[in-house]
Amino acid sequence: MEYLPNFQVHRPGTAEEAVKLRVDNVDARFLAGGTDMIVNVRRGIERPSDLIDLTHIGELTEIREEAEGIRVGAAVTLQQLSDHETVRKSYRAASEAAGSVAGPTHRAYGTVGGNLCLDTRCLFYNQSEWWRSSNAYCLKHRGEVCHVAPGGRECFAAYSGDLAPAMLVHEARAGLIGPDGRREIPLAELYRDDGMDHLTMAPGELLASVLLPKETADIPSGYEKSRVRGSIDFPLAGAAARLRTRDGVIEDIRVALTGVRSWPFALTGTDRFIGQVLDDNVLDDLREMARTQSKPMRTGTVAPWYRRRVVGALTRRLAARLGA
Ligand SMILES: Cc1cc2nc3c(=O)[nH]c(=O)nc-3n(C[C@H](O)[C@H](O)[C@H](O)COP(=O)(O)OP(=O)(O)OC[C@H]3O[C@@H](n4cnc5c(N)ncnc54)[C@H](O)[C@@H]3O)c2cc1C
Ligand code: SF4
Repeated sequence: MEYLPNFQVHRPGTAEEAVKLRVDNVDARFLAGGTDMIVNVRRGIERPSDLIDLTHIGELTEIREEAEGIRVGAAVTLQQLSDHETVRKSYRAASEAAGSVAGPTHRAYGTVGGNLCLDTRCLFYNQSEWWRSSNAYCLKHRGEVCHVAPGGRECFAAYSGDLAPAMLVHEARAGLIGPDGRREIPLAELYRDDGMDHLTMAPGELLASVLLPKETADIPSGYEKSRVRGSIDFPLAGAAARLRTRDGVIEDIRVALTGVRSWPFALTGTDRFIGQVLDDNVLDDLREMARTQSKPMRTGTVAPWYRRRVVGALTRRLAARLGA
């Protein structure tokens, strides 16, 4: 870790002010809880001239019940989200995922927006300046070669946020504010499968809120993750699911994964389980589906084959729990 360099901190009171500060200065960055950003600044990965603190913007700090569902401000902390009574009851996967991020101090500062906009991670990228420079950096930042797949021009850094897959199974919508005004998109459209640039937001745009829609409220849901250090760590693989059965027959199912590609993604093809009895054969098929749609690469200390097996096992275990 390096000493903190000089930068100027701004504390705007409105989202529009924050967007303007960002648009006016290409070297400025948004700051929420800072639990990831400040680590990246101390590693020399981020070199902002200015940091724009989003945590004093009123509309970003509230959880509101609206006609369409529960609107969660981007600067709400993970602890607040995890503990929120309606979220715990009606959107259990989001509550469990937020409650599983890092350790208690990170959850007290880390925010919903910071978690959803988390940079992708890789063993060759999340290192100190001297470590990366002695390795000639890498394609994602300042280098010419990807050390994971040296022949190609693609970055496979893994998306490793816990909250996104949970939000995907709830079919959350993302409220964005940018230089061209406000818009709302399905949260799934916030991401693309590109470790170098996995967020689709326009330059200067910020995530203002996430809407948990009332259509998916109260469907049994949950989140399971596996990590190296049980008390404080990113998921080496994580699975969220919503699953409703009646008399053992599947009526509704959606599964989303994290840690095993450069984006959080919902499994495709799960609709074929609707109308089937949730038995061992279906659970085994679901496990295989999770494994085959994952593409872990050598981006961490844990081998890709193991992460692929783990994500299948997590998916199976979670589906069995929700169906019980
Ligand atoms: C030891 C350790 C363990 C960790 N373990 C986990 C873990 O288990 N799971 C996990 O998911 N994360 C983990 N993290 C990462 C981090 O703590 C969390 O993801 C946290 O939720 C990030 O939120 P933040 O508010 O602190 O974000 P910040 O660090 O403030 O910002 C993160 C990124 O998001 C951008 N950003 C923030 N808010 C917005 C917004 N509203 N709109 C647009 N961009 C925005 C910032 O510019 C920055 O690029 C860990 C970190 C550490 C240091
Ligand atoms: S996958 Fe390759 S380019 Fe991407 S961060 Fe890792 S080493 Fe760098």
